[in-house]
Amino acid sequence: IIRFEGVSKHYDSFQVLKGIDFAVARGERVVVCGPSGSGKSTLIRCINGLETIGGGTLTVDGIPVTEKTLPKVRARVGMVFQQFNLFPHLTVLDNLTLGPIRARGMPRARAREAAMRYLERVRIAEQADKFPRQLSGGQQQRVAIARSLCMEPEIMLFDEPTSALDPEMISEVLDVMTGLAQTGMTMVVVTHEMGFARKVADRMVFMDHGEIVETAPPEDFFTAPRSQRCRDFLDKIL
Ligand code: ATP
Ligand code: MG
Repeated sequence: IIRFEGVSKHYDSFQVLKGIDFAVARGERVVVCGPSGSGKSTLIRCINGLETIGGGTLTVDGIPVTEKTLPKVRARVGMVFQQFNLFPHLTVLDNLTLGPIRARGMPRARAREAAMRYLERVRIAEQADKFPRQLSGGQQQRVAIARSLCMEPEIMLFDEPTSALDPEMISEVLDVMTGLAQTGMTMVVVTHEMGFARKVADRMVFMDHGEIVETAPPEDFFTAPRSQRCRDFLDKIL
């Protein structure tokens, strides 16, 4: 459902992605890890066109990701960031219904009904009429996930969704993501939460210096990493 072929990208003379070949199958859960600055965020931001690629090809659902196809691509791909990016002046419910009403022309009542279903799924329905600032970080991130799901994406991207959270709130967000994985959602997750990765990932991807150095199922990845760079990284974080 996602295919990178020889994808490269530069920031001026700095090459942030170096010939990335990588594909994600429908329903697959991929966890991307690697040192700071290795290009993880850049890689996943390319998938929904937040970054443009320099060379190679990148397709989502067979559609090449370009300026022209951006609306089609974005309709298929939801993204959740480290910072929750909720609209502060809108209630939780209005944060969720804005996209479906504005971008999809969904009738308000139907949008609200759907939004409540997603809020229930992230176990936060009772907060529907609050404003983001009245919620904890973990609750806000769950709202951000529900807001993405309201657009009915086929693929969900997560860029370090728990790294801005206090430790006690991390698991409530990871639990929601685990539940989402169980529904069969295609997920690409940048995270250093290796407990989550072991449990949920079909495949681990290790990036370093703009390259995919290693990709393996978690059971092999954690017990027998092939490259020294990957061993060094795991030694540091585990
Ligand atoms: P982290 O774990 O810290 O989030 P990352 O693996 O997500 O790191 P990226 O954010 O993809 O790394 O950045 C990769 C490299 O590209 C870094 O060296 C960064 O400094 C550089 N970079 C990112 N965005 C830009 C930009 N807009 N202009 C110039 N350089 C950039
Ligand atoms: Mg990053």
